[in-house]
Amino acid sequence: MDLFVVGSVAIDVVDTPRASSGRVLGGSATYAAYAASFFSKVGIVSVVGSDFPEEYLEVLRRRGINLDGLAFAPGPSFFWHGRYAEDSNERVTVKVCPNVLGEFDGSVPESYLGAPCVLLGNCSPSLQLSVVNQLAPSRLVFADTMDHWITGSCEGVRELIRRSTGIFVNEFEATLLTDAEPQDAARKLHEMGPQVVVVKLGTKGSILSWRGGAIHVPVYKVKDVLDATGAGDCFAGGFMGYLSGKPELSRKVLVDACVYGTVMASFCIESFSLNRLERVSPAEIEERRRDVLERTR
Ligand code: AMP
Repeated sequence: MDLFVVGSVAIDVVDTPRASSGRVLGGSATYAAYAASFFSKVGIVSVVGSDFPEEYLEVLRRRGINLDGLAFAPGPSFFWHGRYAEDSNERVTVKVCPNVLGEFDGSVPESYLGAPCVLLGNCSPSLQLSVVNQLAPSRLVFADTMDHWITGSCEGVRELIRRSTGIFVNEFEATLLTDAEPQDAARKLHEMGPQVVVVKLGTKGSILSWRGGAIHVPVYKVKDVLDATGAGDCFAGGFMGYLSGKPELSRKVLVDACVYGTVMASFCIESFSLNRLERVSPAEIEERRRDVLERTR
C-alpha cells in the first residue's frame, strides 16, 4: 500500500439551487481515497454504522480501495447535510451528526503501517492525532482540516500542523490560523512546522508553497458545476495519490501533485457524490492535466 487516508465515510444530503441529491455516499476519506486511487494503492481508516448501504462499499471496492481499516459499529453512520447558495463557494451546514465516527479510536491495521504516506483527511484533530501517534516518524504525513476544528479545537489543530510534513487549508482557514493574507499565511504556516503548505483559493486556484519557493496553480475551468462537495478532499486525495509513488518531494513532483489534485477536484464538482469520478477515464485526466499545467507556466 502506498497511502492510507483517515477521515469520514459518510451519508450526505446536498441541496443546491438546481437539485437535491437525496442520501448519497460522501465523507472526507471517501472522496480523498477515491481521487487517490487513480494514482496509487490506497486504504481507508474510518468507521461506518449499521445503516451504511453495502452498495456504497462496492463503489469503493470497484476502484480497488482497501477497506481493511474500515470498522463497522452498531448505530448510525456519520451524517452530513449541506446547502449551497447560487455561488457554489457559499455553503451552510444544515446538520452534522458524527454518530459512530464520534466514538472511533482510529486504530490503524498492521497491514497499513508500512505505507510511506498518510493523509489525515478532515475529521476531529483528536482522531487525526491518534493516527499520527501510531506511525513511525519517517512517514510523510499531510493533513487537511476545516474552520469548525480551528475555532473549536485550536490547540489540537496546532499540534497536528506541528507534526505534519504538509498541510492543506483554504484562504479562510489560513487567515484564522495566522491572522495574515494567503501569501504571508503560507510563510507563517511553514514556521509552525510543515515543509509544504497548500492554500486553496476556490475558483482562483491554489498556492503551493515549499521551503524555497511558491507557485500559483489555476483551476481547470468546469463549464457546469453541480455540487462542490468533496472538492477539497479530492484535491488532497489526487495530490497525495500522485505524491505517494514518488521517491522525493522535489519541486517538480510537488507542482505535478498540485496539478493532479486540481484535476481530480474538477471532476468531483460536475456531479453529486462520486458519480462523475466513477466515469473518469485516464485520457480525460491527461487532457485536464495538460490544460492546467500549461496555464501554470
Ligand atoms: P468538502 O466539501 O471538501 O469540505 O468535504 C465535504 C465532505 O466532508 C462531505 O462528504 C461530508 O460528509 C464531510 N464532512 C463535513 N463535515 C465534516 C466533519 N466535521 N468531519 C468530517 N467530515 C466532514
